[in-house]
Amino acid sequence: MTLETTARLLDGRATARAMREAVARGCAELQQRSGVVPGLAVVLVGQDPASEIYVRNKHRAATKVGIRSQIERLPAATDDAELLASVARLNADAAVHGILVQLPLPDHMDERPVIEAVDPAKDVDGFHPLNAGRLLIGLPGPVSCTPAGIIELLRFHKIALAGRHAVVIGRSNIVGKPMAVLLLRENCTVTICHSRTTDLPRIAAQADILIAAVGRMAFVTSEFIKPRAVVVDVGIHRVEDEQTCRGLYGDDADRLRAVRERGSTLVGDVHPLQARERAGWLTPVPGGVGPLTIAQLLSNTLLAAERTTRS
Ligand code: NAD
Repeated sequence: MTLETTARLLDGRATARAMREAVARGCAELQQRSGVVPGLAVVLVGQDPASEIYVRNKHRAATKVGIRSQIERLPAATDDAELLASVARLNADAAVHGILVQLPLPDHMDERPVIEAVDPAKDVDGFHPLNAGRLLIGLPGPVSCTPAGIIELLRFHKIALAGRHAVVIGRSNIVGKPMAVLLLRENCTVTICHSRTTDLPRIAAQADILIAAVGRMAFVTSEFIKPRAVVVDVGIHRVEDEQTCRGLYGDDADRLRAVRERGSTLVGDVHPLQARERAGWLTPVPGGVGPLTIAQLLSNTLLAAERTTRS
C-alpha cells in the first residue's frame, strides 16, 4: 500500500533529465560551432567506497551527454604536494575545462589549499573563494552544484520565488550559504538558520520556501512547516531498522521491503510523513535533490567550456 500524500512532488529526476538533455544539446552545438568538446577531470584520492560510487556516476553521466570525462586516481598515501601538482597539470591542460577534486580527502590532507589551487575558470564545483565571492556580488561564474540545482528544480516546477520568505536551515559553504545567496538573487526574503539559532521551529514555520540542509535525520517535523509551504530536503541518511522506518514512513510497504530485503532505505533531513501532510510541495528522498547535483555539474562543465570559446 502506498501512502496518501497531500504535498505535490518536486521531481528531481525529471528536472535532472531536462537539465542533462539541455547539456547534451549544448555540447553538440559547441562542438559544431567551435570544434570544442567539453572536458571534465575528476580527481579521486584513495579508495573511499562512497567516493568511488560518486565518481563513477559523474563519469558515466558526463560521458552520456558528450563531455569527455577522465578520472585521475591518486593513491591514499598521496601527499599535499603531489595532489597540488596533479591539479596544476590539469589547470594547464587546454582539453580540460572542468576540474573536480572529490571530497572528502583522506584525513592527513588539507582541503582548503587544494580548493584554492583549482583554476577558478575550471572550478566546476564552485568552491573556489573567487567564485564564492562572484556569487555574492552577482557576477557570473560556476555556482556550487547542489544549491544551483535546487534553483533549477524550483524553476522547473514554476514555483514563484520573488517576494516570498525563504528559510535555509544550514550554513555550510557548499549548500546553506550559496543556497541563501541564490534565493536572494531570485528576490526572496531570506533567513539563514543554523546550530545556534534559537526558536528554530518558529522561524522555519514562517517560510514559504523551506530548505533543509542540516545533516540530521528527519529533523524538520510538522511544527517547522507552514501549511502549504514548499519544502526542499537536501539531507541523505540511511535507515536500517524497521522500527525507525515505520516511524518515518508508516506502513509504506516499499520502504519496509527495502529495509528487510536490501538492508536499508533512505530518508532526508525532513520527516517524510509529517511533511507530506503539511507541505504544499516536497522533494522525495531519493529522487529529489540527489539527481540535481550531478546534472548541475555537467551544466557547469559545459558553461566553462563555452566561456573558453568566447574569451
Ligand atoms: P554540514 O554538516 O556541512 O552543515 C550542516 C549545517 O546544519 C551547519 O551549517 C549547521 O550549522 C547546521 N545545523 C547542524 N545542526 C543543527 C541544528 N541542530 N539546528 C540547526 N542547524 C543545525 O552539511 P552540508 O554539507 O551542508 O549537508 C547537509 C546535508 O545535505 C547532509 O545530510 C548531506 O549529506 C546532504 N547533502 C546532500 C547532497 C545531495 O546531493 N543530495 C549534496 C550535499 C549535501
